[in-house]
Amino acid sequence: MTETTFIILKPDALRRGLTGQIISRLENAGLRIVAMKQIQADTSTAEEHYREHQGRKFYKPLVELLCSGPIILMALDGAHTVEIVRKLVGATEPLKAAPGTIRGDFTHISYDRAAERLGVISNLIHASDSHKSAEREMSLWFDKKDYCKDYLRCDDMYF
Ligand code: UDP
Ligand code: MG
Repeated sequence: MTETTFIILKPDALRRGLTGQIISRLENAGLRIVAMKQIQADTSTAEEHYREHQGRKFYKPLVELLCSGPIILMALDGAHTVEIVRKLVGATEPLKAAPGTIRGDFTHISYDRAAERLGVISNLIHASDSHKSAEREMSLWFDKKDYCKDYLRCDDMYF
């Protein structure tokens, strides 16, 4: 059984020129890209995406950060993909994210430092936290025609 998960490369990933390195890590783990597009997020979609955080202090700056430049949306397919991608992404707070993870290797800000500055943690990437969240988020950001699922990777027999 495979499942599809959803990620967003946030504007800080594009501004820092890290998209290739981040996507490589996801591809290297054997995950299959089934949708990918670069867009400029609008405020209402960003608010809906992060609706679970409504009312938190960082909610408004978080939505503003997501809308502050282009983002790349991806759907990735594989076994246990939600869990695998969260593992590769690392902890929310870069200070605590383990070395070897995307956030641990490319960012270092802490909650305290973020509070002194933009009020939000810049941590490069969003990844769905459950199969249910992935389904909700993909239906928010993608249309049916965005998916190209019918292909195999040359190494699919190993996964
Ligand atoms: N965030 C923040 N301060 C916090 C918690 C979260 O700035 O105290 C931001 C951070 O960019 C994070 C996003 O809000 O990635 C969504 O928070 P969540 O707890 O869902 O973390 P994630 O699932 O991205 O690890
Ligand atoms: Mg989350």
